[in-house]
This record gives sequence, C-alpha cells and structure tokens, in this order.
Amino acid sequence: MKLEPLSSNGFATKITAWYALIGSLWIVLTDYLVALTLNTPEQLLQAQTLKGWGFVFVTSCGLYVLLRRGTRSLQKSYSLLETILESTTDAIFAKNLEGKYIVVNTAMAEIAGVPVQQMLGANDEELFGAEVANQLREHDRISLVSGIRQEREACLNPDYLHTNPVGDPNKAQIYLTSKDIWYDPYGTPIGVIGLSRNITEAKRAYEALAQSEERYRNLFACHPQPMWIYDQESLEFLAVNRAAIAHYGYSEAEFLSMTIEDIRPAEDVPSLLNNLQDKPSGYIASGVRRHLKKDGSVIAVDITTHDVEFEGRPAQVILANDITEQLHVQAQLERYAFTDTLTGLLNRTGFSRNLQQAITRHQHQNSPFTLLYLSLDGFTRLKFSLGHAVARQLLIEAATRLKACFPGAIAARLDDNEFALRLRHEVDSVDAVVGHLRERLSSMYHLNNHDVFSDCSIGVVRSNLDCSDAEDYLQAGDTAMYQARSALPHKYVIFSQQLRDTALNRIELDSALRRALERDEFEVYYQPFIDLSTYQCLGFEALVRWQHPQRGLVPPGEFIPLTEETGLVVPLGEWVLQRACQQLKAWQTQFQQPQLTMSVNVAALQLTQPGFLDVLDDVLRTTGIAPPCLKLEITETTLMQNTETIRCSLDHIKQRGINLSIDDFGTGYSSLSYLHLFSFTVLKLDRSFVIQLESSDKSIEIVRNIARLAQNLNLALVAEGIETQQQLALLQQLDFQEGQGYLFSHPLPPSAAKQWLQDKIQSDVLPD
Ligand code: C2E
Ligand code: MG
Ligand code: MG
Repeated sequence: MKLEPLSSNGFATKITAWYALIGSLWIVLTDYLVALTLNTPEQLLQAQTLKGWGFVFVTSCGLYVLLRRGTRSLQKSYSLLETILESTTDAIFAKNLEGKYIVVNTAMAEIAGVPVQQMLGANDEELFGAEVANQLREHDRISLVSGIRQEREACLNPDYLHTNPVGDPNKAQIYLTSKDIWYDPYGTPIGVIGLSRNITEAKRAYEALAQSEERYRNLFACHPQPMWIYDQESLEFLAVNRAAIAHYGYSEAEFLSMTIEDIRPAEDVPSLLNNLQDKPSGYIASGVRRHLKKDGSVIAVDITTHDVEFEGRPAQVILANDITEQLHVQAQLERYAFTDTLTGLLNRTGFSRNLQQAITRHQHQNSPFTLLYLSLDGFTRLKFSLGHAVARQLLIEAATRLKACFPGAIAARLDDNEFALRLRHEVDSVDAVVGHLRERLSSMYHLNNHDVFSDCSIGVVRSNLDCSDAEDYLQAGDTAMYQARSALPHKYVIFSQQLRDTALNRIELDSALRRALERDEFEVYYQPFIDLSTYQCLGFEALVRWQHPQRGLVPPGEFIPLTEETGLVVPLGEWVLQRACQQLKAWQTQFQQPQLTMSVNVAALQLTQPGFLDVLDDVLRTTGIAPPCLKLEITETTLMQNTETIRCSLDHIKQRGINLSIDDFGTGYSSLSYLHLFSFTVLKLDRSFVIQLESSDKSIEIVRNIARLAQNLNLALVAEGIETQQQLALLQQLDFQEGQGYLFSHPLPPSAAKQWLQDKIQSDVLPD
C-alpha cells in the first residue's frame, strides 16, 4: 500500500496543468476583453494591473482549495499510519543514517523502556548502552550494505538496559528484527526501517516441541520392545526401532522395503487383511498374533496398536511384546497344574475346567456330552498285597487303555483309582459303551511278573443334569459310581434324581446317627463264643444295634459303613468298647467267671486315631478288666488301608496284652501273604466258608489249609456263623477250638445274654 498524497505524481502534474490552463485562459480571455473594450493606454495600464491582481486572487483561491484537500489527505494518511503502527505488538522503527530514531511506535519505545517522545532523536547507545548498540549498529550496517532485508535474532535482557526493565526482569527476551533500507522518493538511502517481534514465547514453545519430539523419537528408537510404524493404506513399514531390527533379524533397509504382511505366516495373512478392513479408526487393540522372523521361526506377539499420522500419511504405530517364552512357561505351568504326573491324563483340576467349558457350551449351543466316572475295583487290596509299584503300573496301564478305548474323549485321573471320561456326544447305548470299556479295562494286566485282573465300576452322567457346576457333575458321577459297585452284572449306574435322593438320604442318615449317639439310642447286643470241645461259654462278641424310635432295631450293616465314612465310628466305637467292658466286668464278678472274654469290633479309622491307645488304657483302668480278657476284632479288609500305621497301632495294642483277632478271614485279597506282619492271636474264619463246608469237598480242603496256616502262625482258630450240627461236626474235625453262631445263640440284648450265661453256667455245672 502507498499513501495517497505521497504516491500520486499526478497530484503535482494535475496542479501544474490546472495552473497553466487557468493562467493561459486568463491571459487569452482578459487580453481579448481588454482589446475589445479599452482603447487608451491609461486604461490598458489599469486593466493590466487589475488583470494581475485578479490572476493572483483566482490562483490563490485555487491553491487554497488544493492545499487544504492535500493537507487533509496527508493528515488522514498520517493518522492511518499512526494507527497501524500502534495497533501492532511488533516494534516498528525508522532510523536516519546517523542512527537516530525518526519513527518509533509504542511497542518499540517499551523495549527501550522510554516514552516515544524521548526515543525520537535518540540513538541506540543512548537507549541500550554501548554493547547492545554495537550489535544493533552492525545489523544496520549489514542491511545498508547488502541492500536487501536482513533478519537477525537478538537477545535483550532488560536487566542490562539502562532504562527500567520491561516484563519479567529474570527472563531475557528474544527479538527477531527485520531491517530494510529506507529510501527517499529519489531512491537515495536515508536510513533504516525495522520491525522487531518478541519471539521469546514462540521460541520457547518451539524448543519445547523440538525437545518433546526428540524425546518421543528416542522413546521409539530406544524402546526395549519392538516398535514400528506402517502406512495404513500401502501397509509398508515407515519406521522401525532398534529392538524390532534386533528381534526380527531384518535390517532397517529390509524392513522399510517390506509390508506388514511379510512378517506374518502366510496362513495368517487373510485374517490380517480382514481385521484391517473392519478396524474402526483410532482403534487401540491388543491381542496375540503370530509373527515370522527372518530366520523363519514363528513367535507369539502381544501387540498394541494406535492410529497416528506419519509424514502426512494415515499410519499406525505398533508395539510388539514377544510372549513366546511366557506362553511356553504358562503352558508348562498349566500342564503341571492340570495334568496327572503319573498317567499323563488330566488331573481333577484340569478335568473340572474342561468339563465346565463343556457345560457352558452345552448351555449355549446345545452340544451334549456324556460323563463316565469310574473306579478300579480292589485297587486298595492290590496296593497292599502286591505293593505300590505294581499299583502305580496298574494305573498307568489302565490310563493307556482308557485313552485307546475312546481316543476322542477327554480322559482324567481324578483320584487314587478314580478316572473320568467325557465323551463328546450323547451316548445312545450305555450298555454298549460301558461293555466296551469294561472289556478293555478288565482284561488281564501283566505287571511285574504278576497277572492282575481289575474290574471297574462306572457312574454315568448325562449332560441334561439340572446344574451348571462341574463339581456337581463330578459329585453326581461319584454317587452313581458308588452305587455301581454293587450293581451287578453290568456294574454301571446312570445318575438320576433318585440316586441324588439316596445320597441325600445318606446325609440325613448321618445326622440322625449323630443325634442317636447324643440321645443314647444305641444298644450293645452280645453273642457268645463256645468252646467247640467242651461247649462251655468262653466269652462274648459285642455287636452294636440302633434302637430307632420309628424303625425299631436297626442292624449295624445298615449304618456302620456310613459311620466309617463320616468318622462317627470313632465316638461310637469308643462308646461300645466302654459299654462292653463294663458289661464283661459285671458278668465276670457276678458269675465268678474271671476268664470270660469280650470281643469288640474295631474299625480301621479307630486304629489310626492318635488317641485310641489312651482310650484303651482308660477303659481297662476304669473297668478293671484284665487286658487278655479283651479281644479286638479287626476285619481283614481293614488291614489293607494304611498298613504301616495300623501295623504300628496293633503292635502297641498287643504290647498291652490285649488279644487281636482277624475277623472275616478269607474275604480279603491275597491275605495269607501279609498275615505274619501283624500281631494277631486269633483267626476268625468268615461265615461264607462255614456255609460252603457242607456243600463241597473243595471248601473243606481250603478250610483245612487255612487251619494249617493258623497253626503255623500260632493263631487260635475261631469259626463264625455256625448254624447247623453238620457244620459244627466238620469244624470240630478240622480242629477249630472256638465257634460262634445261631446254633448256639443269636446276638442278645444284655438282660437276655445275662440270662443265657446264667443258664449256660448252670447246665455246665449240672451233670447230663
Ligand atoms: P462281624 O463282626 O463279623 O459279626 C458277625 C456278624 O454275623 C453279626 O452280624 C452276627 O449277628 C452275624 N452272625 C453271627 N452268627 C451268625 C449265624 O449263625 N448266621 C448268620 N446269618 N449271621 C450270624 P451283625 O451283628 O449284623 O454285625 C454285622 C457286622 O457289623 C459285624 O460283623 C461287624 O463287622 C459290624 N459291627 C457290629 N458291631 C460293631 C461295632 O461295634 N463296631 C464296628 N466297627 N463294627 C461292628
Ligand atoms: Mg466281629
Ligand atoms: Mg465276622
């Protein structure tokens, strides 16, 4: 922009032209009029004078009008210029060739710290001091010499200025000053004009930005995890960090010539492209991907992505965390936590987890399954007869057969000898499936030079169970398997509501038994032992009964097994022991029969209780019966549980002089092989042998062998369940010294037993 009066050359031309035109017209017209109207020289002389005065008047008026217009225009321009100069925060100034300020705006005066009026006419030295003035003059000089605009940054610390500081005195202010030559209208340099802008804030912001950019660049470059930026359209790598180069094995140049598809295994590329298509913008995702290294190895990477703009292109920055090792360790830990180390099958935790997933799947997608819960029969017996090593081999072999039988199924070893199978479909013919399984599992095992048979019991649970917890399914399987043990001949039971009710009944029965003990509803019945050569009464066996308020007398077979499972047999057995010993003492005293004995049945759980020996001592002490008069009966199957603890407990009992009797002998597994390990004094042959005596010679032979073994081991021979004279005669022939059975007496309540004993003693005393 140029200011009007100064810019217009035409202004002077116009005035001159008008002046020339008016003057010429004036001369021509007035000369013509004078010539026309005046004739005398005096008139002409006067007219010439008037003409002159008229010319002066007319031109003065014209000049006045023109000068007034010019001045107004000049004032307008000046005011505009002043407004422009003052409206900017930039400092504007003009200096003459002597270095004196001719034009300054307020912003400039503020830099110098003086009023505008004081600054006009002053030079840099007066205003800023010699040091700053030298720099400013040098800038002026270069601007004048070069002839082109010169920009220079200068740092002015107001503290060092002569005048009052401007702004924060602690902060130096940075100015960008642009200077140009000031020419007069004829093109002659008459000074320097300049514009200074305070760029302190902008400069600091710029530096902060640069630093921050540098930090981010470093963060990217030096980040310990692989990072890269790729073009979202072409999928080309745009930048990679050092960790990516080191980890993936490609050089930076190689990376930059590749696309992200090149670091994915070929089979993963379609899914990558699909994901990229569906990806919403700004999406930050993290997930595990498979990546391909330069050496061809595939790694698992957890990636995080973020949309960015890189060099004007839509791009994405990726942070890749190699979790291959972590997954490997995790898998190892999982294997360890969820696998049975002996068989390699899933363990209970692993199977539960798998089963839970199957239950959820079934609930959402209706994918039924069948759960088989099975246990190997006679495992405990086998373990204690053939040893733990053989038992372990049996489990391994059974697991192998199980897997081979249903290769697609999920197999697990849940517990000692309990396995589970989850078939991935609903079984139509349970008979066929279970038959197939039993056939495979029960065919002979050759283990450590032993031929072993092991059948199994199977609980079947269908996926339509009305519950959603894996533990409930396993519980159902366990319940069904438990029932299957006695479900001959197929040895499987399908879980049903009825079975659940039975299980619940067991829980109710347990509570009722506990209440019964508190309410004193138990009674002890006594069954005598008879000397088979003299028929004298040698003693009694204490047999517990439950006098149920509604059901009447309940035999022990209906509740003892449950009390053994729940532990109630411990307080109950203690109560029976106490009661029986008191009774014995009473009869010994009453009938003067100090040699009378009392046999008390003891469960395995009692023997393994730490306080059992104290209980025995206490009972012997309080009742005052002699230890040899007490006999503890331990069933043969009891011996197969926790052998070492039981053997130790039996030794301590024996040391007290108490007799130990092995009950139900002949029902155990390979029982002969370990008899000598225990401190027994009596062998009580199981009733099943006595029953068979009459029907087969082979049975007699077996019993004869058992009797011989007992003699070899110095064991007294007792037969239980003698019901007939013929059985009695055979047992006498086989050298059995003692017997018990309905032939002599049923188990009797205390009063009846007392009467029986009294009658017996009298009949023994009376001659026949
Ligand atoms: P057990 O110790 O072998 O007792 C013998 C069982 O055979 C008794 O059955 C007895 O009544 C029955 N018995 C005796 N002679 C004959 C006979 O000639 N013919 C027949 N058919 N049976 C005969 P019970 O009293 O029903 O006892 C069953 C089992 O309950 C006992 O077998 C014993 O193992 C257990 N038991 C009984 N009382 C107790 C106890 O206080 N504690 C423990 N732990 N178990 C007990
Ligand atoms: Mg017994
Ligand atoms: Mg018995």
